Amino acid sequence: QDDQFKKVISHAKEYGYVFQSSEIYDGLSAVYDYAQNGAELKKNIRDYWWKAMVQMNENIVGIDAAIFMHPTTWKASGHVDAFNDPLIDNKDSKKRYRADVLIEDYCAKIEAKIDKEVNKAAKRFGDAFNKEEFLSTNGRVLGYQEKINHTLSRMAKSLENEDLADVKALIEELAIADPLTGSKNWTDVKQFNLMFGTKLGASADSAMDLYLRPETAQGIFVNFLNVQKTGRMKIPFGIAQTGKAFRNEIVARQFIFRMREFEQMEMQFFIKPGTQQKWYEHWKETRLKWHLSLGMGEDNYRFHDHEKLAHYADAAADIEFKFPFGFKELEGIHSRTDFDLKAHEEYSGKKLQYFDHEDNASYTPYVLETSIGLDRMFLAVFSNSLQDEALENGTTRTVLKLPSVLAPIKAAVLPLVKKDGLPEIARKIIEELKWDFNVVYDEKDAVGRRYRRQDANGTPFCITVDHNTLEDHTVTIRHRDSMEQERVKIEDLRDIIKKEVDV
Ligand code: ATP
Repeated sequence: QDDQFKKVISHAKEYGYVFQSSEIYDGLSAVYDYAQNGAELKKNIRDYWWKAMVQMNENIVGIDAAIFMHPTTWKASGHVDAFNDPLIDNKDSKKRYRADVLIEDYCAKIEAKIDKEVNKAAKRFGDAFNKEEFLSTNGRVLGYQEKINHTLSRMAKSLENEDLADVKALIEELAIADPLTGSKNWTDVKQFNLMFGTKLGASADSAMDLYLRPETAQGIFVNFLNVQKTGRMKIPFGIAQTGKAFRNEIVARQFIFRMREFEQMEMQFFIKPGTQQKWYEHWKETRLKWHLSLGMGEDNYRFHDHEKLAHYADAAADIEFKFPFGFKELEGIHSRTDFDLKAHEEYSGKKLQYFDHEDNASYTPYVLETSIGLDRMFLAVFSNSLQDEALENGTTRTVLKLPSVLAPIKAAVLPLVKKDGLPEIARKIIEELKWDFNVVYDEKDAVGRRYRRQDANGTPFCITVDHNTLEDHTVTIRHRDSMEQERVKIEDLRDIIKKEVDV
């Protein structure tokens, strides 16, 4: 698992997808740059989402609100008071950790012990091994499992009750050590706000304290009435938005899974109070279908229904994806009631109500939210697509099986040799295709090596121009996943590619 994840990170760098930010200065922790291919993949994911949410739904419109918002926004939303992580310092190493993550890592280590026992037993019993039975009857494994359950539920309860002393007590009882130095000398647990602060204006006394938005949702709520009125929107309707969000994450690891600057794709769906259950189910199903439409394997997704709800929600579920480090949240679907609009009414003194002509009555709408991290989606797509494939001739190839609709480059055009007029024909093909697709030209190395390079880059098609092309205007088109090759007419190329990459 670890090895696969390392491979994902190094492949992302080697093929121009993701770089560490400010790398020449040794990087900035949990900040990344999207490179030439990464920027295209990210844009394609964003477009795929936007098309499904905005273009395909008559009652959903998209906006692009500013990152800076009036500071009172974050009072109303609850972020000033309740957007915190519990932190603990080690007195010897002077290192800072998220208390809940220390505890989760401890549980992950016990889980690894369970895995080890399972593997040992599987080897010992061979074909006769039944994992379920082993897990439910082996005393030692049961003990480990009980310890994990007990630890996590005590932590959840303590955090919910803001009992930070008990979180510290738990760390001490479990004798959790500083992961770097092994020291067990801990400070008290303190809450730490995740918002980045900054200032608007130059002079010290007139400057205003601002925050970089930690989520895009609030830009939608404060514009609710403007959009409803100018767009003449009738409930139920949605407002969608993609854009950057910022969180001062303390445990910044796992590559682009948890970043300090990241991008969200959110949609707030405004509904009549009392209909939230129906819409909650609707959007859970609709969003899962969107994921499945990419063909990345049904088994890689699961729902996680929240028992513990945030202060704004009356129901919430995550769509989890199987990342190289296990199932983790990819998208959240939240029934937010009228919490946000009511709060903004209270803090702004402005009414944010909807007049329902059918009922002849005004009300504050309820909200159903779908919220997905674009970077997390990128990681899901990229890590799932990267495969080492054993070939019939005994060799292996590295292939990035990106869904064609998302691939940064749709086709590479390759002259078999650098002479006899073949490069000129290849260039001409590019001139024709570039109006519809991102295409590249590649003439370096033997054609087999060029194929492998495009495989690793995720390019769905290679088009090879050879000497027969001079006579009959046909080329070879090679499919990335099947490696099958067909002879086709140059004039048919556009339609062949379009059929596969258009949705
Ligand atoms: P987590 O529990 O993983 O911190 P969250 O529950 O705080 O996430 P939300 O506030 O619901 O996340 O944000 C919605 C989505 O935004 C998440 O499902 C995730 O895809 C994405 N997201 C949140 N925080 C980050 C981050 N630091 N880096 C990248 N994506 C993020």
